[in-house]
Amino acid sequence: MREIGHFIGGKQVAGTSGRVSNVYNPATGEVQATVALASVEELRAAVENAKAAQPKWAATNPQRRARVFFKFVELLNKHMDELAEILSKEHGKTIEDAKGDVIRGLEVCEFVCGIPHLAKGEFTEGAGPAIDMYSIRQPVGIGAGITPFNFPGMIPMWMFAPAIACGNAFILKPSERDPSLPIRLAELMIEAGLPAGILNVVNGDKGAVDAILTDPDIGAVSFVGSTPIARYVYGTAAMNGKRAQCFGGAKNHMIIMPDADLDQAVNALMGAGYGSAGERCMAISVAVPVGEETANRLVEKLTPKIESLRIGPYTDDEADMGPLVTKEAYTRVRGLIDRGIEEGAKLVVDGRDFKLQGYEDGYFVGGCLFDHVTPEMDIYKTEIFGPVLSVVRANNYEEALSLPMKHEYGNGVAIYTRDGDAARDFASRINIGMIGINVPIPVPLAYHSFGGWKASSFGDLNQHGTDSIKFWTKTKTVTARWPSGIKSGAEFVMPTMK
Ligand code: NAD
Repeated sequence: MREIGHFIGGKQVAGTSGRVSNVYNPATGEVQATVALASVEELRAAVENAKAAQPKWAATNPQRRARVFFKFVELLNKHMDELAEILSKEHGKTIEDAKGDVIRGLEVCEFVCGIPHLAKGEFTEGAGPAIDMYSIRQPVGIGAGITPFNFPGMIPMWMFAPAIACGNAFILKPSERDPSLPIRLAELMIEAGLPAGILNVVNGDKGAVDAILTDPDIGAVSFVGSTPIARYVYGTAAMNGKRAQCFGGAKNHMIIMPDADLDQAVNALMGAGYGSAGERCMAISVAVPVGEETANRLVEKLTPKIESLRIGPYTDDEADMGPLVTKEAYTRVRGLIDRGIEEGAKLVVDGRDFKLQGYEDGYFVGGCLFDHVTPEMDIYKTEIFGPVLSVVRANNYEEALSLPMKHEYGNGVAIYTRDGDAARDFASRINIGMIGINVPIPVPLAYHSFGGWKASSFGDLNQHGTDSIKFWTKTKTVTARWPSGIKSGAEFVMPTMK
């Protein structure tokens, strides 16, 4: 049995806590490896390592830091097939989808190649008589990232790329469900020229997370995962004097106006609802057709497409989606589908009994479609995180708009329409972080920032974009005066620039 340890001080090290967790092949249900769960002492060893290496890295000029990322991007491209395979094998998503996962992270690494420009400070000459004022951005010191299972490539890179480019050392605590890719990324960072100790991967569960949140040397914590844990991490990090940005769950709606190109909307819903088996925080899980006729036509067009989804292991090049990640996820999603039926929603496409020959023990759930879902139902309120799309029918635009507005989550939302005025009004009034206009999954590119509102995000600075440079650095402002008469005596009045 393969044992996955940690990556500390520039190399892989075995776990010493004696605690491990199983890593499954989601397509077969087999245990393919175990992953070490770090103790407080192991986390502390990684921090000590990071602490020793960080000052020299911070003092390395930003062009040289950028060059590590230029090289890293080259290595990611060179190893793309291998990386996608490592990812898919533990997550279950298709190879093409896994490449998308890595590429979205790679794009953040491309963005931080501009660190010499991005981290430049501000300067005011002559802010007062003989006075200059300047603000500089200095690294926080040691940053930490705690990441979810669903994007084991992209999300670690969202965090470690800007943090390291800014001159920090970094401790990554990946999901224990698919831990192999983050270790391989750390190896490639070393190959790209990163000094040992700057990027450490510490595997673990709540024990390792709590050790991060209470460690006196870690200054900033970035978290992505489910909302209850995001809330917990945000509160605990703040209590311990750390800055934190914590991103949580989602329930993303797509509003389909009567004037929308319905074929386009249906294709968009298929990809956004069922891609990666619905295990995306930007998946569309609620379709809101406006008007009875739009709703009837939408359900009619969606049904045969969902019934003919091709579901398979990641080794099937033709598959549209793979299995869910674990048995627990499978049981949870199945339970929620049963709950939807009990609550009175109409299960138009039932994927519960999907079985794949040769993969009977895999965690596959077929595509499901619920119609006549209402806001009171659990299946509407809860993030299902599986291949289940709910149709909530709205009578008019205002009613449709009010649904995502009133929902607990506020990650992403989309509107399909040909009416520019409706689209503008929608984008302006909605209380959600990322908006798609005729775009189903509006994940911003690396040079903009990613983040939701409401219970989808805690903290004020988003992932990547210029927000990430602010998050991983502290501002220091210097006021300097070089007058001739400095010894003229004390001033007792609050200084102003007059
Ligand atoms: P999760 O919350 O179970 O786990 C996330 C991380 O927290 C993991 O590293 C895990 O080890 C750790 N963790 C789990 N339980 C903990 C506990 N009790 N105390 C401390 N740490 C704990 O999430 P997941 O199942 O891995 O990922 C799916 C969730 O992530 C979904 O809710 C999804 O919407 C969300 N997500 C959000 C975004 C976003 O940007 N908003 C992106 C991707 C995923």
